[in-house]
Amino acid sequence: WDMFVLAFVERFFRPTYRKDDFVLGKKLGEGAFGTVYRVSLKNDSSKAGDLVLKKATEYGAVEIWMNERARRACSNSCADFVYGFLENSSKKTSEYWLIWRFEGEATLYDLMQSKDFPYNVEALILGQVQDLPKGIERENRIIQTILRQILFALDSLHSTGIVHRDIKPQNIIFSEGSRTFKIIDLGAAADLRVGINYVPKEFLLDPRYAAPEQYIMSTQTPSAPSAPVATALSPVLWQLNLPDRFDIYSTGLIFLQMAFPALRSDSSLIQFNRQLKRAEYDLLTWRKTVEPRASSDLKRGFELLALDNEIGWELLTSMVRYKARQRTSAKTALAHPYFVREGLLALSVMQ
Ligand code: ADP
Ligand code: MG
Repeated sequence: WDMFVLAFVERFFRPTYRKDDFVLGKKLGEGAFGTVYRVSLKNDSSKAGDLVLKKATEYGAVEIWMNERARRACSNSCADFVYGFLENSSKKTSEYWLIWRFEGEATLYDLMQSKDFPYNVEALILGQVQDLPKGIERENRIIQTILRQILFALDSLHSTGIVHRDIKPQNIIFSEGSRTFKIIDLGAAADLRVGINYVPKEFLLDPRYAAPEQYIMSTQTPSAPSAPVATALSPVLWQLNLPDRFDIYSTGLIFLQMAFPALRSDSSLIQFNRQLKRAEYDLLTWRKTVEPRASSDLKRGFELLALDNEIGWELLTSMVRYKARQRTSAKTALAHPYFVREGLLALSVMQ
């Protein structure tokens, strides 16, 4: 009951908005389930500033639920959610409108497309360009810092009981305010503690980053129980099926793309997925087939992961595994020796 009272009080005192309150700006994205715009408030006496609006289809209801929950339970891991409402004044079909604070200009995808990656991220995080020699050690530290931030956000999302299911560089935004990466786009997420979106919509999943198991719950799981039943059962089901490991696989692929410049494009990732499938999802088998005849671009990835006794490679292989239960969790990954080395912030302090 406390939760309900808290939710009500919070809802009551937070500002509420309507369609007419917003001035639409640039379109930021358009998917099958919604369109995203940069917007501002018309009469902005509250100085709410820059906002982002997603006009969503019927799945918007779930996305509002997930954002409300994430805001209360793990506010720093996801983009700052402001408000969500059902908008049905204009058309016959109703839309859900979701409002967030504008976190920043670039997603991890945008940043990874630059030739300057990962140095462009270093400059964003530290707020300055460092006068240090460029090299693989420095790149490794920057990548380590990015990966740690993603895993940190994922860990708190998972601890809340939410599985994201669409983790990819396009859904990781650099927050200019906090100078950290945050997770966005909870449109395909599942809240297993309460049973919301319990039956996975596998057509929502991005095949480029999806783990080989299509469903995050095993097929033995009984079909969608009503909410109270799910509340009682889901912690057990969580232990049994480890649905969070779906996000870990996707995060592993992001780590791979950061380490290997040659795998950053969509087409090369698709090709990699084909090769990995042929290798029966065994990264070591994949490595043995590609490394001997690798281009210098591909070699550089192996070189980076080989630093400090192959510690990066060890972490990568603990994330990208066929069987969900053999993959590491976000919490365990954060304690991996790969992260024992000083990260980016220490690098700047050391100078
Ligand atoms: P879609 O369902 O279209 O994938 P997303 O929620 O991923 O919707 O948003 C689409 C794009 O809009 C993102 O890739 C990002 O560029 C931008 N965006 C979304 N939320 C924010 C935010 N809070 N701040 C800044 N940009 C955002
Ligand atoms: Mg998205």
